[in-house]
Amino acid sequence: MLVTHDHSGEPALSPSLEQRAVGAYVGLAVGDALGATTEFLTPREIREKHGIHDRILGGGWLRLKAGQVTDDTEMSLALGESILAHGGVEDAAVAEAFSQWMRTKPIDIGNTVRRGIVHYRSTGETAVAMNEFDAGNGACMRSLPIALFYCDALHEERVQASRAQSHITHNNPLADAGTETLVEMVVSALKGLEKSLLETMALSLVSRFPLYRFDKRRMENPSGYIVETLRAVFQAFFSNDSYQDILIDLVNRGGDADTTGAIAGMLAGAYYGEERIPHHWRKSLDIKTMLACRDQALGLLAQGRQIDSTQY
Ligand code: MN
Ligand code: MN
Repeated sequence: MLVTHDHSGEPALSPSLEQRAVGAYVGLAVGDALGATTEFLTPREIREKHGIHDRILGGGWLRLKAGQVTDDTEMSLALGESILAHGGVEDAAVAEAFSQWMRTKPIDIGNTVRRGIVHYRSTGETAVAMNEFDAGNGACMRSLPIALFYCDALHEERVQASRAQSHITHNNPLADAGTETLVEMVVSALKGLEKSLLETMALSLVSRFPLYRFDKRRMENPSGYIVETLRAVFQAFFSNDSYQDILIDLVNRGGDADTTGAIAGMLAGAYYGEERIPHHWRKSLDIKTMLACRDQALGLLAQGRQIDSTQY
């Protein structure tokens, strides 16, 4: 049996794949709900308002209820549902799922996402044209279902699925590379690999795209630009030792805090497992969202593995 040591020095059983999968999904939603309160604030405004922001309070510029999530979690659930209904990523089905989601009048929607969905509605095309100036984080934030469903698939299949879902709204090489790296890191975390190996993967992204270099200079106020988002996420993930510390670090940097929270939340949730997400955060999460995330995490994992075992 695998025994690891957590930061308190207590030996802890290594979480199962299922616990890590649920941890990733619940971790994403918790990060979204926690970060939404400080989205678009500066670190200084956060300090003045909250001291250290570490509770799920709602509010923020979207005036959320405590425990309410935003587009990051909602689009992930829409993508995941489409994958479950079609046995994988079918670009037309995913585009339709995003379009249906937009009809629900979501509390928030990014400009690039809206433009992509409108493009699909007016042309029927499931990919936008390559745009070298539009490297937003909107495809990355919703990519967890890819990691879960294609967990045991070949790397190439995962890349293909990641690109297909991304290009419905975002088509940019820098954003693709960042998203694909994040997906690979989440898959490795689900499988229980060490942080040093995850760091190697992040550094390999940096060697191919030096803009992603996450050095000592703290990335505060990270914008929705994928490079700033992932630099902040990598800094926080590799310099803190628990789900809680990683998330508190990030959401107090402000900027696109719900999305840095969501992305770090899925990665840290996969790495540490559901049990290590603070109980009071899990309890604060909207209960319907919590259940949808748990169900989908287990469903995607199970269905993805079934398909893989019949293929090989
Ligand atoms: Mn959001
Ligand atoms: Mn955001």
